[in-house]
Amino acid sequence: MELSPTVIPYNLTEEQEKKEILRRYRALLRVLKPKLKHGDRELVRLAFEMAADAHKTMRRKSGEPYILHPLAVAMICVEEIGLGVRSTICALLHDTVEDTELTLEDVQREFTNEIARIVDGLTKIGGVIDASSSQQAENFRKILITLTDDPRVILIKLADRLHNMRTMDSMKREKQLKISSETIWVYAPLAHRMGLYAIKTELEDLAMKYMEPEEYRNIAEQLQATRRERNRYINEFIRPLKDELQQTGLRFQIYGRPKSIHSIWNKMKKKNVSFTEVYDLFAIRIILDSDAGQEKADCWKAYSIVTDEYHSRGDRLRDWITRPKSNGYEALHTTVMGPQGRWVEVQIRTRRMDEIAERGLAAHYKYKEGSHGEDRFDKWFAQIREVISHQDTDSVDFLNDFKTSFLADEIYVYTPKGDVRMLPAGSSALDFAFSIHSDIGARTIGIKVNYKLVPLSHKLSSGDQVEVITSSKQKPTEDWLNFVVTTKAKSKIKDSLKEEKRKIAEDGKYALKKKLEGMGASFGRHNIDLLVSHFKQASPLDLFHQIAIKNIDLKEMKGFGLLGDKLEAPKPERKRHTEQHAGEPGAEKHVNVKDTELIIFGERGDQIKYTLANCCKPIPGDDVFGFLTATEGLKIHRTTCPNAARLLANYGHRVVKTKWAKNKEISFLTGVKILGLDDVGVINKITNVISGELRININALTIESHDGMFEGTIKVYVHDKEELDKLVNRLKELDGIETVDRFETGEEK
Ligand code: MN
Repeated sequence: MELSPTVIPYNLTEEQEKKEILRRYRALLRVLKPKLKHGDRELVRLAFEMAADAHKTMRRKSGEPYILHPLAVAMICVEEIGLGVRSTICALLHDTVEDTELTLEDVQREFTNEIARIVDGLTKIGGVIDASSSQQAENFRKILITLTDDPRVILIKLADRLHNMRTMDSMKREKQLKISSETIWVYAPLAHRMGLYAIKTELEDLAMKYMEPEEYRNIAEQLQATRRERNRYINEFIRPLKDELQQTGLRFQIYGRPKSIHSIWNKMKKKNVSFTEVYDLFAIRIILDSDAGQEKADCWKAYSIVTDEYHSRGDRLRDWITRPKSNGYEALHTTVMGPQGRWVEVQIRTRRMDEIAERGLAAHYKYKEGSHGEDRFDKWFAQIREVISHQDTDSVDFLNDFKTSFLADEIYVYTPKGDVRMLPAGSSALDFAFSIHSDIGARTIGIKVNYKLVPLSHKLSSGDQVEVITSSKQKPTEDWLNFVVTTKAKSKIKDSLKEEKRKIAEDGKYALKKKLEGMGASFGRHNIDLLVSHFKQASPLDLFHQIAIKNIDLKEMKGFGLLGDKLEAPKPERKRHTEQHAGEPGAEKHVNVKDTELIIFGERGDQIKYTLANCCKPIPGDDVFGFLTATEGLKIHRTTCPNAARLLANYGHRVVKTKWAKNKEISFLTGVKILGLDDVGVINKITNVISGELRININALTIESHDGMFEGTIKVYVHDKEELDKLVNRLKELDGIETVDRFETGEEK
């Protein structure tokens, strides 16, 4: 691949810069020329002028004028991806809406809705995806939604990414790493899937250059050092083939092509070998100039010549002509034994196939009108759309599933009737069953591959004929999840397991209900939540299920002190009793059950542990609710707590109604903040009210005055809210006091 010149010296004068920008613009017009129809030139010019004007004060990190970036992206779109006029306009404008004053409405007004929509798509997927977070997954999902809306969006985005990767040198190392890992994660596989092999390879190599600079340099140097020897070998390998091919009258080109640094490095890692031990550092490519209709025959003719000359490895023939990859790739690949006993990969394809291989999607559309009626990309997009719209699982999971389901290479297998199904490489026999229909997948009891019975986990290979045997009595089991790879199979199995669990759980639910009734305790949400927490289950469903399958023995409940709970599911505004005897405020407390209606568990059957939430520091008399935490048992929050709304809204099932019981023996530490006019006697007045009049213990008191005002914070021990309210009201009555407020968050002052 030819790299377009990207770095220019930026110590240019303004005049020289303008010249350089115009020079690049004219170069763009030159490559676009064959595609320009009447009026197009003016549109491209308008887009260029709008972009140049919008970005006119901006510079890239390297110091060069920003407009050179959209110009370069447009150039990649035309030259390397083969896109046309509309895409060029979008590429020129791709950063304007996000980074400049220009709006989508401006674009829409000056151009078409179509162009505005693509620019909008490019704007939405801007920004760096944060590695390994759900934010990343969410962004990726956005990319996919826009992608399936118009594939040009993703092609322009890939051009944008490629140019950024090519010109990352002046960026901070941290940013280089972030962008590189994102490129490896998302963009290179996407480029691969779109059939843009050259761009995929370059993206991988560039990412590796930043992520593994030493290994990169090392391999590059070794490739360089062995180049002569390799060329000599390639020539030796090619010579007899050239003669034969010429004699059959084929028009062709034959050459050896080194594999990418990234792919060599992958091989070294995978096989744990050194550079010198990687045998396929290059592949031989035969490109045929065939007449339409002769392509396939010519390719096989060339194949026959190659395998007459060199012995082929029987298991290494790949026929992607009869059955192209779903990214459009067509070619014959074979591995043969060359001179000096070295295995050599030979790739045979026609010029048309080669263009599709290099330029992917765009070239594919160019040839679409021909005999290739069935459109693989459309099918692929339709599949992605289906999955996105049926996705409600965790986003990060979705991303991983998506990678295996849609970005992996594909295999093709046959139904017993001879219909072809494409599946991601690594699919199991069971994935095939689910790909036919989810009901068939769910009822699979056996699978025959090439007439032989195989385990459901059997990994399929291209060309397998697969027959599914079903039984109406069969049901998916947990272990199926260990070997299916497709998103469809996974989500169907999960749904079915959940449904099955729900059915089984019904028995457990019934048994528990009987048991509780027998003990005089009610079968209410409150009691169930406590049982869920005690048996360390994630949900009531899990509890019922565990009881049903006898993992939880109801006899274990005998030892617990159970009391009847006559209340229904708790609502925050109605209150339940939780009598409490507290030690130090904030410390763990125990509730005495003498006259409560709680269901209680524990060794002695008379205590329930709870803690007061630190975020809102409740005191008796506050409106409170209990919240079952996963690790710290029951936490008591005030209903006015800043966290309350979220907890109540999202975890309603874990909320336990609680109410304070009267208890005059325990006091709780709380605080009030007082604002007022500065006055010599103010401290005296306040302390008189608190400890003299109300006999409340003061824990700490600080007063700060400035500009004639004072601000006091007082920490006091009170028994309940009533007492605190009385204190607050009494203080407010004092002369010169403006406001008296309780600490809302319990923060230390
Ligand atoms: Mn950009």
